[in-house]
Amino acid sequence: MFSTTTKNVSRTFQLAAQLKRLQSTLVIAEHNNEKLLPITQNALTAAKQLGGEVSVLVAGTKCGPVAEEVAKASGLGKILVAENEAFNGFTPESLTPLILATQKQFNFTHILAGATAFGKALLPRVAAKLDVSPVTDIIGIKAPDTFVRTIYAGNAVLTLKSKDAVKIVSVRGTSFEPAPLEGGSSKVEQAPAGDYKQDLTQFLSQELSKSDRPELTSAKVVVSGGRGMKSGDNFKLLYDLADKLNAAVGASRAAVDAGFVPNDLQVGQTGKIVAPELYIAVGISGAIQHLAGMKDSKTIVAINKDPEAPIFQVADYGLVADLFKVVPELTGKL
Ligand SMILES: Cc1cc2nc3c(=O)[nH]c(=O)nc-3n(C[C@H](O)[C@H](O)[C@H](O)COP(=O)(O)OP(=O)(O)OC[C@H]3O[C@@H](n4cnc5c(N)ncnc54)[C@H](O)[C@@H]3O)c2cc1C
Repeated sequence: MFSTTTKNVSRTFQLAAQLKRLQSTLVIAEHNNEKLLPITQNALTAAKQLGGEVSVLVAGTKCGPVAEEVAKASGLGKILVAENEAFNGFTPESLTPLILATQKQFNFTHILAGATAFGKALLPRVAAKLDVSPVTDIIGIKAPDTFVRTIYAGNAVLTLKSKDAVKIVSVRGTSFEPAPLEGGSSKVEQAPAGDYKQDLTQFLSQELSKSDRPELTSAKVVVSGGRGMKSGDNFKLLYDLADKLNAAVGASRAAVDAGFVPNDLQVGQTGKIVAPELYIAVGISGAIQHLAGMKDSKTIVAINKDPEAPIFQVADYGLVADLFKVVPELTGKL
């Protein structure tokens, strides 16, 4: 015999499971017309956690191969592809009408993208057009309408329930494992056709920085330098260490503002969010805005000559020492 409470709990679970099955999510793929960018794989994992069917929209100029690449991920529904010169440069002004047309046709309950510059530019525009409030930079999903995100530069965690009919959500890549691109064979279909030309913006060109090192947000090891490095030339110490560890190099905002390194290396609240296996902070004090970008790293090592530096409060291993002495020593021993 079940008690009334047990029956109610079991009904609640059944209802939750049914609700999950009723979800349908569209993931907006981020890519460069040749390859899918890894953030989309993180967004796919988040989408699968919502339950229901997960479809993907791949929009670009000649992005057929990318659609074929995503179609290999397991457990996906439709892969919608839209190839149009209007999508050159992936401007939000050109992509928004396509997403609205796709939403009109399929009526998704959720639209997801990565919380990257691409997603941050695109989703608020889509949300405004649908008259809903976007839920940004989520780090967890408790239910199809309940999301977890950080506030106050990562100092507090907020759980919020969205009552909007369509949930527009951006996903923090470091909080969701990448979905493997294997095991599936979804069908690639055409996204709704339309005249997506617009005269709001025009893409002219872009200059991408090239590096032989691993990409900062996906590297397994990151070596970051702060104002304590004293000059851009001294960052060579960190590049040498990074080469030994196959690591990416990052920096604090103070190091970027001082012109030691370019700003695409900045880690933190207004820089990149990283969560590598190993984060080595060198000559970085550990301001909250820096911690917001790296405190989810699995192991944190701090090298700082000031034993009171706040970075030691989050570090798993701390070395109170002069970086100019110990970093070359460390590199030499590796
Ligand atoms: C709105 C806002 C957003 C921000 N966003 C970011 C952000 O995204 N990322 C970010 O990093 N910051 C950000 N900041 C800035 C942040 O508040 C700090 O100013 C910055 O992180 C400090 O950088 P730092 O640790 O390199 O410099 P400092 O705080 O000056 O620390 C330098 C450290 O180096 C140590 N040191 C000096 N010489 C040596 C030596 N020879 N050997 C060993 N150690 C040495 C010192 O003891 C010190 O702890 C933001 C600030 C604001 C207001």
